[in-house]
Amino acid sequence: MLPTVAIVSVHACPLGRLGSRETGGMNVYVRELATELAKQGLAVDVFTRRTDPADREVVEMAPGATLVRVTAGEIGPMDKNAVYDYLPQFVAGVERYRRDQGRRYDVVHSHYWLSGRAGIDLAARWHAPHLTMFHTLGEVKNRCGAPGQESELRIAVERQVVHSVDLTIAASEDELHHLVDLYDADPERVTIVPCGVNTRLFSPLPRGEARAKLGLNGHRTALFVGRMDPLKGLDLLLLAAHELRRSVPDLQLLVVGGDASPESEEGRVRDLARELGLADRVTFVGAVPQTELPTYYSAADLCVVPSFYESFGLVAVEALACGTPVVASRVGGLPGVVKHGENGLLVANRTASDFATSIGELCRDEGRRAGLALRARASVARLVWESVARRILQIYDETLAAAGPAGALSSLRR
Ligand code: UDP
Repeated sequence: MLPTVAIVSVHACPLGRLGSRETGGMNVYVRELATELAKQGLAVDVFTRRTDPADREVVEMAPGATLVRVTAGEIGPMDKNAVYDYLPQFVAGVERYRRDQGRRYDVVHSHYWLSGRAGIDLAARWHAPHLTMFHTLGEVKNRCGAPGQESELRIAVERQVVHSVDLTIAASEDELHHLVDLYDADPERVTIVPCGVNTRLFSPLPRGEARAKLGLNGHRTALFVGRMDPLKGLDLLLLAAHELRRSVPDLQLLVVGGDASPESEEGRVRDLARELGLADRVTFVGAVPQTELPTYYSAADLCVVPSFYESFGLVAVEALACGTPVVASRVGGLPGVVKHGENGLLVANRTASDFATSIGELCRDEGRRAGLALRARASVARLVWESVARRILQIYDETLAAAGPAGALSSLRR
């Protein structure tokens, strides 16, 4: 019988197709963390809600890391607030799997508020310590100015989770402050672990080759990569491109992410591009598998992250790892990654004209852009998943040690 870490990720399947409205950084995080923890000797089971009857229920994600898809409610996509009602069923499904497999979980590590709620029940049942990561916080999303409101339910559950877990892991200083200021978290029970990036996959390719591969001409290219969510601020980038139509007449935008159904966010953004007369300057590529993204990052002159909020900003890190400077909103965790004037530009006021100024500056001054590009990769070299997992492992160890001698980490290793 192998002692095991239970990673609870109700809402984000680590093997989900990235780039649609609901699948992005959190899915990547859970996938990379589980894989790396397993590499470092832990037995890891990841639990997620089953959303497609065609998916296998139990899959080996990586040696030592198993993904378990638990049936909770109808098997299919479901609004996250609706998923809440099925959490008891989810918890029962996890417990059934544990019993059937004869597993013992020494640590519960939950991701996002829904999993945090499920994690409370699982940790109590198993007398195991519970660590959580929120990835985004409802209260912060409601205050950041993005369209739409997060539910009171979400915020109440986040509060409950913050006050019941052994430790909350925040991705940035900014997130820690929000946890303390908006959720009254005890700062002693919050620790910061920045996210990672796969620097082997995300590495610079010769720009000419990358451009040729994508069929790009010699035009200036600004890249957007992200989930199709209003939070990502794509409208602002289109408005900025509109402002730049005379001063940077050859600017083209590549938009990666999204799904092409007519009622999707992508449909709305496409309409806006048409209304602004940008139809021939913007290419909507759709969702792209991560393995192909280095070509896009390497082909672009710059990557733009105009988000209302980012708790960390994986896209910015990936672009930098590929040697591409980033122009980003000065929000959330982004200033921890994008250093103004070193590897990119931060835009303090989220306005189209300020974004246009920064993008325009880098498009017109190749020397400046190239200088930022030169420092880009080295600026994120420290953020490898291996180090993230090593730090998380250390946190498990400390948490278990605090929970008593029975919980020494040595018992966790396979
Ligand atoms: N991504 C992808 N294909 C796409 C769009 C996005 O693989 O078409 C990935 C991207 O590489 C990144 C993640 O989705 O790792 C988005 O993470 P980020 O932290 O930037 O945003 P979040 O989804 O957490 O809001």
